[in-house]
Amino acid sequence: MCYAIPGKVIGFEGKLVKVEYFGEVKQAVNEFDDLELGDYIYAQGGYTIKKIPEAEALSILATWKETFFELQELDLRLSRLDLEKAGIDKKFALILDKAAEDLALKETDLLYLLNLEGEKELKLLYKVANFLRQKHLGNSCCVHGIIEFSNHCSQNCAYCGISTHNRDLRRYRMTKQQIADAAYDAIETWGFKALVLQSGEDPAYSVADLAEIIQEIKQRSAVLIFISCGEVGLNGLEKLYQAGARGLLMRFETGNPKLYEKLHPDRSLASRLAHLKKAFELGYLLITGGLIGLPGQTREDILKDILLTKELRTEMYTFGPFLPHPNTPLALTPPPSVKEVLKTLAVARLADAKDGKIVVTTGFETLHPQAREEGLVAGANSVMLNVTPAEFSKNYLIYPKRAHSGERLKEQIDTTLKILRDLGRAPTDLGVTHA
Ligand code: SAH
Repeated sequence: MCYAIPGKVIGFEGKLVKVEYFGEVKQAVNEFDDLELGDYIYAQGGYTIKKIPEAEALSILATWKETFFELQELDLRLSRLDLEKAGIDKKFALILDKAAEDLALKETDLLYLLNLEGEKELKLLYKVANFLRQKHLGNSCCVHGIIEFSNHCSQNCAYCGISTHNRDLRRYRMTKQQIADAAYDAIETWGFKALVLQSGEDPAYSVADLAEIIQEIKQRSAVLIFISCGEVGLNGLEKLYQAGARGLLMRFETGNPKLYEKLHPDRSLASRLAHLKKAFELGYLLITGGLIGLPGQTREDILKDILLTKELRTEMYTFGPFLPHPNTPLALTPPPSVKEVLKTLAVARLADAKDGKIVVTTGFETLHPQAREEGLVAGANSVMLNVTPAEFSKNYLIYPKRAHSGERLKEQIDTTLKILRDLGRAPTDLGVTHA
C-alpha cells in the first residue's frame, strides 16, 4: 500500500530539491547529505523523507501511471464551474467570480458567504471551493495517520471528553515500545509517510521521553512526524524538533480570547498562539484551526478563526464541529449543523485558495457519515486515518461515538481509497515548503 508517489530529483536550489513525477515539479527541503541528481525519493509536507532504489521507484511509478492521469481527468471534470447557468443574486455572483479569478475577497465578502443559508447558494459555494482546490492544488490528497498514545490529561478544557472533567473514562498510556511498534506497523506495513503522535497533556511523558519516542521511530523508518501533545513549552518544541519532529498539530480551538478563557480556565490563548508561532519559526509544519459551534461563538468568530489560521501560515487547516460529551460542562450544548461545518471548509478554501490543505476531520465524520465525500468536494483535500491499536483508540473518547472507532485499519484504508478513487483524487503529498 502506498500513500505517496516517488519523485525523481531534477535539481537543487540551496536547501531545496526539485522533484518531478509525471511531468509535475514540486520542491522539498533536502534532509539528506548525499542526495544526487537522478535519485528517487519520497517527500511529505515539503520535506524529503526517504530515498528509494530506482528499480522500486520505477515499478511504483509504472503502476501509478495510468491511474494518475485517469484520476486527474475525473477530478477536473467533477470540479468544472458552470456559474453562468446558475441564475443567482448579483452580489453573490460577483463574489464567486472574484474568487474564481483569484482576486482577494474582502472580509465582508467572506462573512457574506458564511451567512448563506439557501441550498442552491451553498451548492454553488461548495462548487467554487472545489474548483479552486482543483485549480491550485490538483488532485493530490494527504492521508496522514494518527497514533493516540495516551488519554491521560491534566487539563480541564470544558468540551473535552479526556479532560479532568471525565471521571468515568478508562485511562491508558502506551509504552514507548508500543508507540514505536504502532508507528513501525503504520509505516512499513501500511505505507504511511506522515504520522501524528497525539495525547492529552500527560505529565507522565517528559519532553525527553517524547524525544526518545520520535528518535526511535525515525531510526527504524522514514517518516514525517507531527507532534500533538498540547503545550510542551517553547523549549520543548525546540528539543522535539531537534529529535526529528517536523510538524505540530495544535488547534488554537477559538481565536476569541474571552471564549478561550471561559473554556480553558487555566490557560490563555496567548500561550497557545506563542507555541504555534515559535513552532513555525523553528521550521515545523503547522496543522491548526478551531472548533465550530462552541457556545456563544458567532460567524464573525469563525471568520476570524479562518483568517488567524491563514495568518499563522498553516500547512493544513483543521476545523471540526464541537460535539457534546456527557461528562463535561458542555454536555447539553447541541453540536453545529452539517451545513455550518461544510460552509467553514469552503470559506477557508476561498480565503486561502492557493496553498492551504484542508482536512476533513473525524469529528465531522462523526457528525455526518458522508462528511468525507461532501467535504472533499467543498474545498477539502486531506484526511487522517486512525492507526492507534483498537484496544487503546476505543478509549480516546474526546467525544462519544467517534467515527471509525473499532474499525480495522485495513477497512479504513480500503474505504478511504475507494472514496478518493471515485472522486479522482490521488493520495500523494509532495507539497511546497515555507523554508
Ligand atoms: N492535548 C492535545 C490534543 C487534544 S485532543 C492538544 O492540546 O492539542 C485533540 C483535539 O480534539 C482538540 O484540539 C480539540 O479541538 C478536539 N476536541 C476535544 N474535545 C472535543 C469535542 N467535544 N468535540 C470536538 N472536538 C473535540
